Amino acid sequence: MTEDKLRYPALFIDLDKLRHNTRHLVELCSRRGVDVAAVTKVYCAIPEVAAAQASCGVRWLADSRVENLRRMKHIPLPKMLLRLPSPSRVDEVVEVADISLNSEIATLEALSGAAVRAGRTHEVLLMVDLGDLREGVLKEDAVPVARRIVELPGLVLAGVGVNLTCYGGVLPSTDNLGELVRTAEEIEAACGVQLKIVSGGNSSSLKLMQSEGLPERVNLLRLGESIVLGLETADGTRIPGTHRDVFTLTAEVVELKEKPSMPIGETGRDAFGQTPVFEDKGIMRRAILAIGRQDVRIDGLFPRDRGAEIIGASSDHMLVDVTRCERPLKVGDMMEFDLSYGGLLSAMTSEYVSKKTL
Ligand SMILES: *Cc1c(COP(=O)(O)O)cnc(C)c1O
Repeated sequence: MTEDKLRYPALFIDLDKLRHNTRHLVELCSRRGVDVAAVTKVYCAIPEVAAAQASCGVRWLADSRVENLRRMKHIPLPKMLLRLPSPSRVDEVVEVADISLNSEIATLEALSGAAVRAGRTHEVLLMVDLGDLREGVLKEDAVPVARRIVELPGLVLAGVGVNLTCYGGVLPSTDNLGELVRTAEEIEAACGVQLKIVSGGNSSSLKLMQSEGLPERVNLLRLGESIVLGLETADGTRIPGTHRDVFTLTAEVVELKEKPSMPIGETGRDAFGQTPVFEDKGIMRRAILAIGRQDVRIDGLFPRDRGAEIIGASSDHMLVDVTRCERPLKVGDMMEFDLSYGGLLSAMTSEYVSKKTL
């Protein structure tokens, strides 16, 4: 839940902009017959934020964590667990998720037991590894694993999926997604089932979709970063028609002085055991902000003030070169930052950063 009393650093979430981005991507996908699972993990599934996305035409709410899915239980959309279930937590998985992504027979057997105990059916998306080398069965093992899923009571094989551009950086292509479709068809022929889902990846598949390269049967994408940050993840470019500033990190200036750019005196290691290197830029106007490496991932922050540049941070202080900053600043002023995916993840999970929806 977001907090009432504002303290800084603060992370602001603009729900109108998020709804706009969500609708825009749902619309782009629906033109190609593709449904969207809105991935909520980067904002820790804050219920108010997830509810905003749920009203925008997405078919699923998807998260990697059982805890996050539980927070969204009251939102009337089916829930997808994105991370492979842990065998020790299958009962919770069956309770909070309608479908989960799977690749291990032992886990599927445990899930089947949990589903039977709970008197429910749990859907399975069988993950196929097409070369990115994160989760998934190898192509040649897909049919035997699918056969086993079909036998297991309490489970329904809903479809196949792939995850790309995550570990190995392998890009989605008509070839590798074509293999996913062929795998789905082999399973259908071998097991006598009809698969309703062929999930062709995450935000990095949008570019291929836009160039009409998605094979016909791919009918679901799981979209996180593209919606929340308006970024194309295959190459990091902006997605036209989306807002880049759904999230704003704001931190307060606590010191503002002209200082040399080179430390004075003999230098050793910094607070993190690194030996720092400096470039002599003469006298600088330097702002210290009340935010540091214990709060967020500093290399995931980008100042919105033109001319301002982050030069470093210790655990509690971030240094910004504001020599060429166009806005006149004083102590007590706030500076705003855009965030990368990693920066956003770190700010969201930080208890030192307050969260506020707009
Ligand atoms: C996080 C995640 C996604 C979303 O990825 P984005 O690049 O943010 O769109 C999709 N699928 C799985 C399995 C994930 O873990």
